Amino acid sequence: MLETPHVAIGAAIATKIPNPFISIPLAFASHFLLEGVPHWNPHIVSETKKYGMPTKKSIIIIAIDVSIALITGSLIAWQVMPNTGHAITIMVASFASVLPDLIEAPYFFLKMRTKFLKDWLTFQKSLQVDTTPFWGFLTQALTIAAAIFWLKN
Ligand SMILES: [Zn+2]
Repeated sequence: MLETPHVAIGAAIATKIPNPFISIPLAFASHFLLEGVPHWNPHIVSETKKYGMPTKKSIIIIAIDVSIALITGSLIAWQVMPNTGHAITIMVASFASVLPDLIEAPYFFLKMRTKFLKDWLTFQKSLQVDTTPFWGFLTQALTIAAAIFWLKN
């Protein structure tokens, strides 16, 4: 799944559950659950197998997605200001919600091929439910909409 829906859900969890000891682990766990929602994202695993690294197009999609994810997390955290403690919890939960993917970054972008990273990648890939770009974007837009709806209610 793209990082933006992950962050939207992670930040929503921490907004609703201000206790960081509960919300941060939950945000982390939500990552694995969301991978079960049929989705589309750049196929960087097969691209890396084929070309040694992700394609330029995928890197651009990832850069845009990560930027939007950062803005999304910050905007959601901003809603609870001036409660700085709660805002920090939301930012950390946002980070925790994408941590499983961040761990993979050195594999794709620094060509780091340790056993841990390979095993982690296999584990994460086993959770992915892929679909076509059309449905795959729609489910992720709905995931973001669900997070916003939850935040507003
Ligand atoms: Zn992931």
